[in-house]
Amino acid sequence: MTAHGNGTRPDFDAVVIGMGFGGLRMLWELHQLGLSVRAYERGSDVGGTWYWNRYPGARTDSEAWVYCMFFDEKLKQEWDWPERFPKQPDMERYLQHVADRFDMRRDIRFETVVTSAVYQEGTGLWEVGTDRGETVTCRYLISATGLLHVAYEPPFPGLESFEGESYLTSRWPKEPVDFAGKRVAVVGTGATAVQVIPEVAREAEHLRVFQRTPNYVLPSRNHALEKAQRDEIKRDYPEIIEKLRKQPFAFPMDPANRMYDENRSPEEVRRILDAAWEAGGFYYLFTAFDDLLIDERSNRFASDFLREKIRTIVRDPETAEKLTPKYPYAGKRPPLGHFYYETFNRDNVDLVDVKADPIAEITPTGIRLESGEEHEADIIIFALGFDALTGALTEMDLRGRGGVSMRDKWADGVHTYLGLCVDSFPNFFMLSGPQSPFANIPAVLDQSVAFVGRLLGYLGEHGVDRIEPTGDAVHGWGEKCQALLDMAPPIKAGLAVSSWFLGANIPGKKPSVLFYFGGAAAYFDDLEKVADRDFDGFAMVSPAGV
Ligand code: NAP
Repeated sequence: MTAHGNGTRPDFDAVVIGMGFGGLRMLWELHQLGLSVRAYERGSDVGGTWYWNRYPGARTDSEAWVYCMFFDEKLKQEWDWPERFPKQPDMERYLQHVADRFDMRRDIRFETVVTSAVYQEGTGLWEVGTDRGETVTCRYLISATGLLHVAYEPPFPGLESFEGESYLTSRWPKEPVDFAGKRVAVVGTGATAVQVIPEVAREAEHLRVFQRTPNYVLPSRNHALEKAQRDEIKRDYPEIIEKLRKQPFAFPMDPANRMYDENRSPEEVRRILDAAWEAGGFYYLFTAFDDLLIDERSNRFASDFLREKIRTIVRDPETAEKLTPKYPYAGKRPPLGHFYYETFNRDNVDLVDVKADPIAEITPTGIRLESGEEHEADIIIFALGFDALTGALTEMDLRGRGGVSMRDKWADGVHTYLGLCVDSFPNFFMLSGPQSPFANIPAVLDQSVAFVGRLLGYLGEHGVDRIEPTGDAVHGWGEKCQALLDMAPPIKAGLAVSSWFLGANIPGKKPSVLFYFGGAAAYFDDLEKVADRDFDGFAMVSPAGV
């Protein structure tokens, strides 16, 4: 394929920001297209999420065989996954292997942060600036900054006065942290803390968990993969992939083929939910009832069942009550646990309700609550979540046509087309952007990148210089995302419990619908339709201005 565009030649055809799953997958696609690329990565190696989140207990919440790269048959056949839900070091090693295997490192500048990307109307190129003072131009700008990258920093006064050690889970040091003989505090009980808590509890002298909102934690039922199981996975990949492309959350699971039915007996409901609970992972969410996320009655069954499980597992009734969510199941993203609730039965673990008595400040010796109650700690771990989906894109100085900044563009809520592009930002593509589907992320990235690749191929073949979505297409996509959310009351209930799905977890961030909740399969169909219709919804400008 020939170099794209006309007129002023850029330094690179494409610049990719971020070298996690999305960036690496994009790099491969760009290599296939024969385009020149410069990639920037903040970390000292590839991995993205799996580079930064090296906290104790970090591992995937999706089965290894669907949380991987799909593009290369040999890669799938030569890689052996050790466990159903691989640990962070295994994921990091895998992504490093991908970078080496496909000779990607030559294009990557590590330990380099993209600080600005400004569209130049005169040349139709992007000018990308880094914290190392480098400036390069490119025709296509692709952000692969991850949906969960910019950490929500502890907002508590007095943090700098703390005389012990404090850590943010998403900036965990590479060196091991020793918890032996220490009093450890964990603040937060999201999917991250849920993984940290059982690990730290095993080592620390004492662990105190500061919880604002409880979560519905599903048992993972993790296990090692024997050789026979690994061989089976390798053999079944074509079937796995075919299946996941049809499933709403891009997991290779069969539909329940069951909805809420008032005639179903309580015993039958319990038997169905029990089987899904025992299967572990997201089987509970995706294989019990097909209307869990859209029918409040069905959701109530699932929520009540989980509340009962918590009360059964946790021995101290007061602690069990604190751990029991009152909002609908999936109002917040449900984490997977590895003996999470059981951890609260340990003598060295207790729970503090900081909804009832919020954290007022960090003192030199620990945490002080608004009531004045003080909790001493040697180590504080903050697992407070992220400025999800938009944070990394509004953090840098990203400016499109007419100098419009992404910060201003999204000040009143996000606006995108397909979760991939934004009007006034020509030749700019986002991977895991806001309003892309909530589903198994590598699968969504795989299809999103394939779409961008097809689009770039089209532009090259048709001599198109510039492409951006029309205002109408962006408006239509926003309406579609809102309508899909309106059809899912349990997810919408997340607004009341600071769900990051809706941007409600960051003080000052305007809540808006940050995901396309129509399911991955429907989204993949949408992408295909758009591409088949010569990229419907996009305005294209060729050098002659046609
Ligand atoms: P999160 O779900 O947003 O949880 C943040 C936690 O911090 C919440 O419990 C929150 O309480 C608490 N918090 C925030 N401000 C607080 C304050 N002022 N005082 C006390 N507590 C406060 O973040 P996360 O746990 O990092 O997870 C984010 C997402 O990352 C997950 O939902 C998941 O999609 C992904 N993740 C995936 C995996 C995996 O796949 N293996 C693992 C970890 C994370 P409130 O709930 O009251 O706001």
